[in-house]
Amino acid sequence: MIRIERLNKYYKRLHALKDIYLHVREGELFSYLGPNGAGKSTTIRILTGLTRPSSGKAFLNNFHIEKDRVKAKEQCGFVPQSINLDQELTVFENLNIHGALFHLPRRKRKRRIDELLEYIGLSDRKKTLVKQLSGGMKRRVMISRALVHSPKILFLDEPTVGLDAGIRRRIWALIKKIQQNGTTIFLTTHYIEEAEFLAQRVAFLDEGEIVAIDAPQVLMSKLGSWAIDKIMEDELETVYFSQREDAKQYIAGQEESFTLRRVNLEDAFLSLTGKKPK
Ligand code: ADP
Repeated sequence: MIRIERLNKYYKRLHALKDIYLHVREGELFSYLGPNGAGKSTTIRILTGLTRPSSGKAFLNNFHIEKDRVKAKEQCGFVPQSINLDQELTVFENLNIHGALFHLPRRKRKRRIDELLEYIGLSDRKKTLVKQLSGGMKRRVMISRALVHSPKILFLDEPTVGLDAGIRRRIWALIKKIQQNGTTIFLTTHYIEEAEFLAQRVAFLDEGEIVAIDAPQVLMSKLGSWAIDKIMEDELETVYFSQREDAKQYIAGQEESFTLRRVNLEDAFLSLTGKKPK
């Protein structure tokens, strides 16, 4: 559904994306993971037609993002990082303008908006001004706006940044539900646990390069199943084990205090990039 071939982006002398290759399957929830400045937003901006690549090709549902620009745009909905709803308009009006931009007939638009508001649990806020909504509600409206024209692909750029834990989980549930309805989802995040929880596959992006692409379970299992964190002076060192018994034995022979836990996706990211996401 998304195909990227040898994509490069330069901002003057800064090489922001370096030979990116990526295939995302239909119906997949794919997460693009990396620290701030890795190039996540740049990739999404190229795919959604907001920035031009310096070289390389990309296709959305087989439409070339530059040569079939209009068709490619119709294939996707985009939820940017910052809230860009019209605060002085109602929820309905915000969605309605978006539907009109995609030339949805008036009746169809109204039906679709009612359906979406029900879907995101905000039917009772249809006539509320956006400025009167909470941060979490605005996020949900942003997501529903991107779905008005029933796109095949949904791009989410850091969808839960700045939200508290409870609201974040609600957004996660909504994202899963959208995927279950058949939409392909491309999600950027620097919250590793978000990718671990949601994604079928993740790509680790580091300084404009993809360093690994695989299922979270596969990336984690390369390290083992168990991790022991130990504090060495002012550094945290982690040792990995396949068997819990081996990990316990390791602790038994030492005097410092340790934490024994399951390996997580952050461990995989750190071992592949040698750094901690910010
Ligand atoms: P991320 O979304 O992973 O945080 P970005 O794609 O925003 O990363 O940025 C990748 C790199 O490109 C960063 O070094 C950033 O400073 C730079 N960059 C992003 N947008 C621009 C721009 N419009 N002009 C110049 N440099 C930019």
